[in-house]
Amino acid sequence: MTGRVVLVLNAGSSSLKFQALAWDDGELSLQFRGQIEGIGTQPRFSARNAHGEAIENRELTPAQASDRDACLQTLAEWLRERLEGRELAGVGHRVVHGGVRYSRPVRVDRDVLAELEALVPLAPLHQPHNLAPIRALLDRRPDLPQVACFDTAFHRTQAPLAELFGLPYELYEAGIRRYGFHGLSYEYVARKLREVAPEVAGKRIVVAHLGSGASMCALHDGCSVASTMGFTALDGLPMGTRCGSLDAGVVVYLGRDRGMSMDDVERLLYQRSGLLGVSGVSNDMRELEESDSPRAGLAIDYFVYRIGRELGSLVAALGGLDALVFTAGIGENSPGIRARVGERAAWVGVEIDPALNATRGATRISTPQSTVPVFVIPTNEELVIAQHTASLVS
Ligand code: ADP
Repeated sequence: MTGRVVLVLNAGSSSLKFQALAWDDGELSLQFRGQIEGIGTQPRFSARNAHGEAIENRELTPAQASDRDACLQTLAEWLRERLEGRELAGVGHRVVHGGVRYSRPVRVDRDVLAELEALVPLAPLHQPHNLAPIRALLDRRPDLPQVACFDTAFHRTQAPLAELFGLPYELYEAGIRRYGFHGLSYEYVARKLREVAPEVAGKRIVVAHLGSGASMCALHDGCSVASTMGFTALDGLPMGTRCGSLDAGVVVYLGRDRGMSMDDVERLLYQRSGLLGVSGVSNDMRELEESDSPRAGLAIDYFVYRIGRELGSLVAALGGLDALVFTAGIGENSPGIRARVGERAAWVGVEIDPALNATRGATRISTPQSTVPVFVIPTNEELVIAQHTASLVS
């Protein structure tokens, strides 16, 4: 192999996901994707080629994945063998928070890294993990171009009104505002929509990103106007283990009257709530759909109900609706959830075609009579990161 390669890294609390894309003549094409998961417990390395075939699946020794640095070494060695002859042009990182400042991706040097580290208190569960490989690579390969792509950046087109909380204004000025997340996914969907449905792509769209993290975004002319996630990735829809919208008074009550510490409250809201908390069965939608437990049914009912209510709110922010899009794990793969959301959205002109909805790979799933067309667009956040990286590196 010759030519160049762009590496995309998505570092979470216990996993390091990666994609390696060949970059030839301005075109990016996936070569490998994979992950090191179970970091800190039972580390395992798995990878697939561009056709989705498994080419690696093995346990790692604790030493091979003891920390971020060791994981990067393990990955670098594996890639060096596979990408023999290809030069690494740059590394693109998914970084959850870009704060007020970053409305687009940025080449990272030590000064930028210091700024991003200052945002850790805004996303304590994600930001430190996202930044760790950047720091490790800056130390080890200072000449290697690195690019940070933010989940918040896409939403910086929102009007100040949409970012505001009803708190004293100095808190807004201090950065306590609605940032919105999943922006790389919305950016991909907004672009893809221009290809698959150019007749609506510039109009008023609601995208439902329904994965283990879930949010919805109102787009006008391909730009974010409002979103369900706010200051943190906790607000809006109930998720796998996160609660979604919550009366802030509950937090005060849990602390004062139930004596819970802030750490306990954080664990409750982020890790023990949402689909898992309501169902008591699982945070995984597939397991809930297969379960006959009444509380699993209740968790699904609540998920769908909240999607319907948030849809109403986003349609109001847009002043109407011209298309609805489903994406991410649940949005792409669960006809049952899509059908139920469609029923709740009938008032706005949505009518989902049962046969199209059940057809894997169908892009448009609404009936011809539906006044609001409905699409399923599989998201690809990594491709957005690779594209930004390639363009900032060149
Ligand atoms: P994330 O990237 O946020 O970890 P994903 O976008 O992969 O999450 O979505 C994970 C969710 O998608 C899980 O709740 C999983 O159960 C759900 N999911 C995946 N496939 C299906 C399916 N065939 N039917 C229903 N839900 C599915």
